[in-house]
Amino acid sequence: MHEYALVQSLVGRVEALVRERKATAVHRLVVSVGELAGLDPGLFQTAYDTFREGTVCAGAAMELRSVPARWSCPGCEREIARGEVLACPACGLPARLSAGADEILLETVEMEVP
Ligand SMILES: [Zn+2]
Repeated sequence: MHEYALVQSLVGRVEALVRERKATAVHRLVVSVGELAGLDPGLFQTAYDTFREGTVCAGAAMELRSVPARWSCPGCEREIARGEVLACPACGLPARLSAGADEILLETVEMEVP
């Protein structure tokens, strides 16, 4: 399942951070997910809750934030509204995705560092 692979890589990133900072516990994670990642938030949460047992994240609640997709003009930075033609009405340039792409970002990791 897609969500499990993503959770696995997420926990791997947290483990790397824990090693790097010599943390003793992880309390909370905030993860932002781009709208275009095509992720099911409920499934992702369930996958996390199953997978975190026995990892550094066992005691860490995860908060998921969804980042809506946004487009803007690469020339004049004008924002292109949802549902509009994906090109700048002023410059005619094709719009560029400025947020909410398919990335999964580890925004915050609250951990116990001695
Ligand atoms: Zn423009």
